[in-house]
Amino acid sequence: MSVPCTPASNALLGEICLVGAGPGAADLITVRGRELLSRAGAILYAGSLVSTDHLAYARADCQIADSSTMTLEEMVDWLLTAARRHPLVVRLQTGDPSLYGAMAELLPPLQQAGASTRVIPGVPSFAASAAAAQTTLTLPEVCQTVILTRVAGRTPMPEREQLQDLARHHCTLCLHLSITLWPTIERELSAAGWSADSPVVVVHKASWPGQEQILRGTLATMAALCQQADIHSQSMILIGPTLQPQPLPTRSQLYHPAFGHGFRAATPHEEV
Ligand code: SAH
Repeated sequence: MSVPCTPASNALLGEICLVGAGPGAADLITVRGRELLSRAGAILYAGSLVSTDHLAYARADCQIADSSTMTLEEMVDWLLTAARRHPLVVRLQTGDPSLYGAMAELLPPLQQAGASTRVIPGVPSFAASAAAAQTTLTLPEVCQTVILTRVAGRTPMPEREQLQDLARHHCTLCLHLSITLWPTIERELSAAGWSADSPVVVVHKASWPGQEQILRGTLATMAALCQQADIHSQSMILIGPTLQPQPLPTRSQLYHPAFGHGFRAATPHEEV
């Protein structure tokens, strides 16, 4: 059931849903997202990062456009024009809409025009990359914090979020939009005390059928490995202590027999 988020919504305009497509593979969209795609009268998809496989879920008569050559103003115009014709319009974007997307710029003009809007989450690329590499990003007593960030490219970073400062925690780092910026990454991590042999995993096009690549190396070797593999875009850089082959950590409380909780009583004498 759709719940309008904007009280001033205009009954003459259809609902506009921002849907997270997930990281690539069409079957990694949520069931809710797929259902909205299959009902939408119009879909505006981010063609530079979203696979066209998702469009197989659309109705045969669905009005479909790729936003990759559009400005924000053109996207707003397209979505509002479509919402005047259709009760449901979908804006399909990569991964989860809350991360490194244009949600903050897109929603206000749609809502100000009187459209009711909704946001449907998606599988973010950092999670799909960890899954592809079959690695955990957290381990008890090793690392319990994950930082999602990027380094400055054409988009500057806020002063207090320099990689060098964030990296001083020595927890897991998931670097987005940074695959061409190795000199900066190496310099900042080294300044934060990371050694050249710190493990690094790069996942290119996580979950894209036939296109996913996983590179394993170190801070010292990864730039060259990416060069050799011709990887310059759409990649997640994972760096952190959980990627290191290591002795089994202290067992977590999660399924420990001696750790009781609301769903299971503790059995302290059982051997583990
Ligand atoms: N909203 C997206 C992020 C968009 S920013 C999300 O939730 O993940 C685009 C960046 O995300 C890319 O530069 C890359 O760093 C990462 N990315 C997106 N899709 C990816 C994929 N399938 N595999 C690896 N990294 C990906």
